[in-house]
Amino acid sequence: MKIVETCAEMAALCRTVQRPLGLVPTMGALHDGHIALVRRARADSETMAASIFVNPSQFGPNEDFATYPRSFERDLHLLEENGADLVFAPPPEEVYPDGFDTWIEPGSVAQGMEGSARPGHFRGVVTVVAKLFTITRPDRAYFGQKDGQQVAVIRKLNDDLNLGVDVVVMPTIREPDGLALSSRNAYLTPDERETAPAVYRALCAAEDVWRRGERDADRIRRAANNILGREALIHAVDYISIVDADTMQPVGTIPVGGRVMIAIAVRLGSVRLIDNVVLS
Ligand code: AMP
Repeated sequence: MKIVETCAEMAALCRTVQRPLGLVPTMGALHDGHIALVRRARADSETMAASIFVNPSQFGPNEDFATYPRSFERDLHLLEENGADLVFAPPPEEVYPDGFDTWIEPGSVAQGMEGSARPGHFRGVVTVVAKLFTITRPDRAYFGQKDGQQVAVIRKLNDDLNLGVDVVVMPTIREPDGLALSSRNAYLTPDERETAPAVYRALCAAEDVWRRGERDADRIRRAANNILGREALIHAVDYISIVDADTMQPVGTIPVGGRVMIAIAVRLGSVRLIDNVVLS
């Protein structure tokens, strides 16, 4: 497994490797959710590359960039164990050198939910993903449904800018109690950890109401909100959104045959948890 720190070396290497080339972009602090992407990429590809880059431009000024969990040596070990050929781990100044001044601005798909709660977040995400795609020119890139809006934003980036990558989306990996795996779960205190599965329970309650025939988004949202409202440690519900799974635009009535995503973001202690389910 080769570890590469510069954009120039990564680009040069990727031009010579056996195709297809699969890319798994990550911010490190790897868990089984990441590893599921890595394994799928390994199985699909002649050459499998992962990136580890805590992208400063997708964090707001009051967010957790400085304290984001980092476990580089352990990550390398896990990637090697799971058959990675290349690991791209550039320092921030390699991706954003002095004078860097070009950004990609995503449109309406990035405006609600995480886009409103975290201004500038998706501008940072799409800019770095476009850079990663341009440096590595992968045949396929792998993302998790856990970050459902991110998936929609990246698909739109890929389509609108003709990046030509096959975007593969993998299901959310969860703890046995339903909590979606996330690097940020490491910040949860034991009490908060006990509360955290309420987010998935709320999503399941909403899905259940829909399965039983409810099509009104407000009433489905209320079912989720009832579950979250019982949890004293959840001190804010940023949103419970019911949106078209591709455009991320809110839906008032769930359409027959449409793909609709229910997404939740809550604050639990110092941690912000996001999760979603897709109704189809
Ligand atoms: P991150 O390191 O948080 O930027 O995540 C890197 C990739 O792993 C993204 O495509 C995430 O959506 C995906 N991912 C994170 N958590 C999970 C999970 N629990 N299940 C599946 N994919 C995940």
